[in-house]
Amino acid sequence: MTRPPATPAPAAPAEDGAPARFAAGSRVGVLLPLPLGGVYDYRVPLVGTDGPVVEGQAVEVPLGKRREIGVVWGPGTGEVPDAKVKDVLRAFPAPPLPAVTRRFVDWVAAYTLSAPGAVLRMAVSVPQALEEARPLTVYGLRDPARPPDLEAMGIKATRARLAVLQAGAELPPLPAAELAREAGVSDGVVRGLAEAGVLVPSQVQPLLAPDRPDPDHPGPQLSPGQREIADDLCRRVRQPAFSVALLEGVTGSGKTEVYFEAVAEALRAGRQVLVLVPEISLTGQWLARFRRRFGASPLEWHSELTAARRRDTWRAVADGRAAVVVGARSALFLPYPDLGLIVVDEEHEQAFKQEEGVPYHARDMAVVRAQLGAIPVVLASATPSLETAINAEAGRYDRLHLPDRHAGAEMPAVTVVDMRRYPPEKGDWGRSWLAPPVVEAVTETLAKGEQVLLFLNRRGYAPLTLCRTCGYRIQCPNCTAWLVEHRLAKRLVCHHCGHSAPLPAECPGCGAEDSLAACGPGVERLAEEVEGRWPQARSVVVASDTLGGPSAVAAMMQRIADHEVDLLIGTQVLAKGHHFPQLTLVGVVDSDLGLSGGDLRAAERTWQLLTQVAGRAGRGEKPGRVMLQTYQPEHPVLQALATGDADSFLAAETEGRRAASMPPFGRLAAVIVSGEDEAAVDAVCRALAQHAPRDPAVEVLGPAPAPLALLRGRHRRRFLVKTPRGMRIQPVMRGWLTKVRVPHAVRVQVDIDPYSFL
Ligand code: ADP
Ligand code: ZN
Repeated sequence: MTRPPATPAPAAPAEDGAPARFAAGSRVGVLLPLPLGGVYDYRVPLVGTDGPVVEGQAVEVPLGKRREIGVVWGPGTGEVPDAKVKDVLRAFPAPPLPAVTRRFVDWVAAYTLSAPGAVLRMAVSVPQALEEARPLTVYGLRDPARPPDLEAMGIKATRARLAVLQAGAELPPLPAAELAREAGVSDGVVRGLAEAGVLVPSQVQPLLAPDRPDPDHPGPQLSPGQREIADDLCRRVRQPAFSVALLEGVTGSGKTEVYFEAVAEALRAGRQVLVLVPEISLTGQWLARFRRRFGASPLEWHSELTAARRRDTWRAVADGRAAVVVGARSALFLPYPDLGLIVVDEEHEQAFKQEEGVPYHARDMAVVRAQLGAIPVVLASATPSLETAINAEAGRYDRLHLPDRHAGAEMPAVTVVDMRRYPPEKGDWGRSWLAPPVVEAVTETLAKGEQVLLFLNRRGYAPLTLCRTCGYRIQCPNCTAWLVEHRLAKRLVCHHCGHSAPLPAECPGCGAEDSLAACGPGVERLAEEVEGRWPQARSVVVASDTLGGPSAVAAMMQRIADHEVDLLIGTQVLAKGHHFPQLTLVGVVDSDLGLSGGDLRAAERTWQLLTQVAGRAGRGEKPGRVMLQTYQPEHPVLQALATGDADSFLAAETEGRRAASMPPFGRLAAVIVSGEDEAAVDAVCRALAQHAPRDPAVEVLGPAPAPLALLRGRHRRRFLVKTPRGMRIQPVMRGWLTKVRVPHAVRVQVDIDPYSFL
């Protein structure tokens, strides 16, 4: 085979942001979406790609003996001698990855110190979507306006056949099975009519044709305060330029309705919209409201989609057919050709931080994506993260504040219940966890026919099982963690690695029988007390492990909203987003649960969670009340909730962070060194310590055993690196980590802006 000329043809100039084209014979740099993937040179062949390839195009290339998918990232680097450069095998028919998506991939890789290929993998997560979808055979009448006369064709006009003709006359051509279902007949009837030539087959592309949300579908009449903020957001969408708006307002103030107006404006401009939500399985009510407002559904993007749905959705986004996507953090990496607005709902939620693989914070990366695309981003929250609040204060973000609950619904009254003063009274069911004033309030509320939420952020029956004879505590064999008893499942479960084992009959330590005792409450144990105290109340435990799939969640939320349940016992899955108009009392057991431990954001997060939970009370016409049980009533978080003075609490937290030069006043990076062989892990840690950056502005703490010193059987050590805000931490980290050789059995993970300190 004749080889194309040796010198790579220059890439055609990219005009107006149009992607560069690479002619046959030229070299291209192809980024491979592999964990360690970088850009490798390949040659555009003379045949096989239907002409030049375009920047961003997905191609198939040889890699060793395998064939891999890659994306044309730009001109070749020229680092490889010509003789070694292999040909691109073929180009995929999917639209090229937009330039802004490619820049985003590069940006995220550089920021998180990840391989660009690892980030690209999140953008081309559905390789099947790159292919042309296989055409589908559909059946219809030759002329739907004039159904054929079966008897004249010598075919008996059975009722089933006539039903098919009628369906064929009313509906567009459909696959045989669907046409049969519509007509209420068996597939065989449809096939028989096709063989007889009454129905004619044709081929169509089976691509998802999502209904277009209608921006002018009638929405609610906004209050003047809401209108003003909605108009501000709409102006940003029309402009369009990069801006960050913090949309703040208590739960129920109408944030969702207000940002829906911005979504409508983007739809009017014909642009795509992305709404990021922290927990897609809990968005049933959100989806229903979206449909009410826009008369159609958005496309969903999350890990629970079927493979076919993922493929169709990815392609609908890439082709521009998807107008609105609502998704989990990974939806940021979809290949939007014309994204015009991003909304991050509940921006303070920690679920936006990805801990595995490429560690990134989707809220922060949404801001970056908006900047690269020169579009607005809206961060919505009742309890903004300190990072966002400080950015707003500094004028980097614009603060838009919705002051009141819609329709004058009042904020619930919050009281702090000191458990030292009001210890729980024992009952027939065993130990109690509810303080007498809370018991009284629950009884009153149920008597009025209203709903109660008892909140305890702990799944299972009891967080610890110990032996009364020898004091043995049952621990996970793979993690530094106690096993949690789940009495419904009759098992002990590790909440970190999922290890589970039956509850033993005798103590694993001393062999004593019937000596194991549950310590402390989980929601299942609280449910025992509830059944003991209010046997007539219809109660239900709602936790992530008792819920099941999205449709089960939606059904449960509907049952609650329809008041088929009187008393909810729930973990944080119930804290967020839901609107239950009959719910007027929220009691929180162990309000101080999240305050212990050395986490930088412990107080802030507890405040956010409790504010969210409290926001569930009194969302309808009836006023709500909230009772916080605690052993630390004087703690600033509980005081802030009781007095409603969030500002002083946040100001104090901000000062604390400033004084300690903690984020966002300084920069942090964590390094986790882990492996099954403890000695090998320690050896790497010693080498890292030896080569630690010498710059006096850089503070390196560690190595220290991580709080989860053993996780999934791996030993873990941590370093924490702190630099001043004005300093770029990435070059510091890169310079350091490249000095140390890491054996295969040891993993070194870098986490820029860590949120988990475990
Ligand atoms: P948030 O997102 O701030 O919690 P929502 O947008 O969910 O607030 O609004 C709370 C409730 O009030 C929702 O049921 C919403 O439909 C309703 N609501 C808000 N604003 C209006 C309005 N202007 N007209 C009618 N209903 C409204
Ligand atoms: Zn474990």
